[in-house]
Amino acid sequence: MVKVIRTVLELKQYQSEFFEGKSVGLVPTMGNLHEGHLSLLERSVSENDISIITIFVNPKQFGPNEDFDKYPRTLEQDVLKIEDKFSENILVFAPKDNSEIYPEGFDTTIQVGALTKILCGANRPGHFDGVTTVVYQLFSLSKATNAYFGQKDYQQVKVIEKMTTDLHLPIKITMMPISRDQDGLARSSRNQYLSASDRETALLLPRTLVEIESILKEETWVNSMIKINEVLESRIADKNWDYLEILDASNLKPVNENTTEVVLVGAFRVGSTRLIDNRKVEIKYA
Ligand code: AMP
Repeated sequence: MVKVIRTVLELKQYQSEFFEGKSVGLVPTMGNLHEGHLSLLERSVSENDISIITIFVNPKQFGPNEDFDKYPRTLEQDVLKIEDKFSENILVFAPKDNSEIYPEGFDTTIQVGALTKILCGANRPGHFDGVTTVVYQLFSLSKATNAYFGQKDYQQVKVIEKMTTDLHLPIKITMMPISRDQDGLARSSRNQYLSASDRETALLLPRTLVEIESILKEETWVNSMIKINEVLESRIADKNWDYLEILDASNLKPVNENTTEVVLVGAFRVGSTRLIDNRKVEIKYA
């Protein structure tokens, strides 16, 4: 059964009436659901008695010149997609307006430190404060024991893990693999802003990450670092890249010869559309 809840009050009532003694999985989203979102929900359904998918285009995580107004809002179709795929107990929490989450006088920000100042945080000041402030609230309202996030937003998962550890939040974070379209582009609600030729341009993002991954797999550490730096320097000269970096996957710090797993992260602009992608690669020493 899929139940749609539009207010915090109703969620709290439902929570106290039905959640006692049950495991609860939470999947926070901004809606316009695609296979990537649904794979998170599928995992939640397989591991919990009740799953809550939240659909909220969170104004606090958008900058003043970003796409908050044009972000696709498709609640009806989203609910149909969920009903189509699942027969289990699923709650859709879709706050009916922003004041459900940020009522008059709301004045709290949850802020993680250094991790939010690099990569997307450097390009989108305040973005992660908006993310952690809403996610903390969703954790607390749902009293979920498990939460599911996509590797697609790798830095976001690391920031949420940090908040969860630092604040001793009683919830387990699971990171799910990136769901991609056939051409290799990571699925994203923002892909629909792309024309056919934009999409061709956008493919440079996943292709560059694959290219760097193959260098890492084929070369010794020293040789691969030389070759990868050449690729990074040549690509980053193109102003479409917000960033393209190779970092330690565990903490998003610079890599060194002791790093055992790296993450290749990129953010790339096609016109006014900003896309992000990443690949995690284990380092095997000879
Ligand atoms: P969003 O609606 O973009 O805020 O995404 C909601 C959740 O779905 C986040 O945890 C995302 O990382 C995850 N997600 C978005 N796109 C994908 C994808 N292509 N594959 C897997 N997870 C995704």
